[in-house]
Amino acid sequence: MSSQIINALKKKVAKKTWDNWFSTFELKSVENDRVVFSVANLFIKDWLQTKYGAVINRAIVDAMGRELAFEIVFKEGDKQREEPIKHLNEGSLLKKKPLMISNLNDEYTFDNFVVGRENKALYEVALDVAHNPGKYNPFFVYGGVGLGKTHLLQAVAQETMINYPEKKVLYITSEQFMNDMIQSIKENNIQKFRDHYRKKSDILLIDDIQFLIGKKGVQNEFFHSFNELHDTGKQLIICSDRTPEELDNFHSRLISRFQMGMLMSIQQPEPSTRFYIAKQLARRESVNLPDDVARILADNIDGNLRRLRGAIIKLIVHSSVYNTQIDISLANQILQSFTNSTSSLTGRKPIDQIYDAIKSIMRVSREEIEGTSRNKEIVLARQLLMYVLKQHYGKSITDIARETGKQHPTVIHSIKKIDKSVMMGKGTTKLLYDDLVGMLSSSSAAV
Ligand code: ADP
Ligand code: MG
Repeated sequence: MSSQIINALKKKVAKKTWDNWFSTFELKSVENDRVVFSVANLFIKDWLQTKYGAVINRAIVDAMGRELAFEIVFKEGDKQREEPIKHLNEGSLLKKKPLMISNLNDEYTFDNFVVGRENKALYEVALDVAHNPGKYNPFFVYGGVGLGKTHLLQAVAQETMINYPEKKVLYITSEQFMNDMIQSIKENNIQKFRDHYRKKSDILLIDDIQFLIGKKGVQNEFFHSFNELHDTGKQLIICSDRTPEELDNFHSRLISRFQMGMLMSIQQPEPSTRFYIAKQLARRESVNLPDDVARILADNIDGNLRRLRGAIIKLIVHSSVYNTQIDISLANQILQSFTNSTSSLTGRKPIDQIYDAIKSIMRVSREEIEGTSRNKEIVLARQLLMYVLKQHYGKSITDIARETGKQHPTVIHSIKKIDKSVMMGKGTTKLLYDDLVGMLSSSSAAV
């Protein structure tokens, strides 16, 4: 029954709308002639009530055969999803024809990718790969979180499918690769899995390869797939949040395979590029962002572009729910809530926000972190601070050393240490990190 209402609703809205606004929408209960839905974001709750109330009513009638009142509640405690469409990117895809329904985000195209000076060369090579698969093999792209790696990777996938409709293009995250592998082992069907990757794909795109750190068995399997594809001239494209050498504990033979192709980094966009990215991100939501608004956002939200996107979505939702214009004054308002929700001061730097978040989650103060105590908790807090600066805000080692007043080697050691726990996905360190990022994301991005 529950799935009927959701299914009826799904049929009534465009896919893009669904992905953007309904990704955390769930049916909670049907009681006393009342349907209760939950959603993990307050703004989206408002938005859905305002914009989709009538559609939801009709879906209920379709599924239940009569009218029932409904209510949408905000489900607290759930981590807000930083990017609802993320789920789209994570599925596997084996395509024969470009027109087949795919798990690729159809907005992640070359056309939608704004190119500044920083990433011009990268863009050109990516385009070249899509036109001449096999020319640069493997093509390895690395860089910080939210700088556009997945976007670019999927753009290559989509462009290749257009250029070579007969080729089979397989896009997958390394996590999905692992899941598929485990599933096939469970079903005693590893051969099918191998054929799927090694024989049935002409172009294999693997996103977020760093996920395989510490997973030797999967790396081994991947190594063999890699070799077989590479030896037969099939294009491999790999994304990572770090260079091959920084893939700690990776098989050295896999690292050297990565190094033998075309290795390129994705750079943080400059403010001038961010301006156009802001305009583009709004255009994707069918909104024309005034230049002055785009400028102020571009100047104030740097690093991770998901934060910029978050601010833009927040702006659009606000203006729609409260029926106000998207202008500088609204942008300032959003920016304030964007930068100060973990504190009462405006214009706070990421590091200050992290100090606040650490304090509320770990009960370790800024003074303790800045001090020299070797107390276990304090050391962990210090290391988490550096790691979050790197992973979540895309700061360089040099910047982190300067901002925290620590030595280069200390910073590198700290980041490595946390990274290992996070990548292994175990223990309190990982939980603390998730908590921190959840807190920082929900305070800085609406969705
Ligand atoms: P990453 O995979 O590096 O973490 P994503 O590819 O998920 O980053 O990018 C984050 C968001 O920013 C996406 O919505 C993406 O479309 C957008 N984005 C990133 N780079 C650009 C760009 N150069 N032009 C337009 N949008 C971009
Ligand atoms: Mg990505």
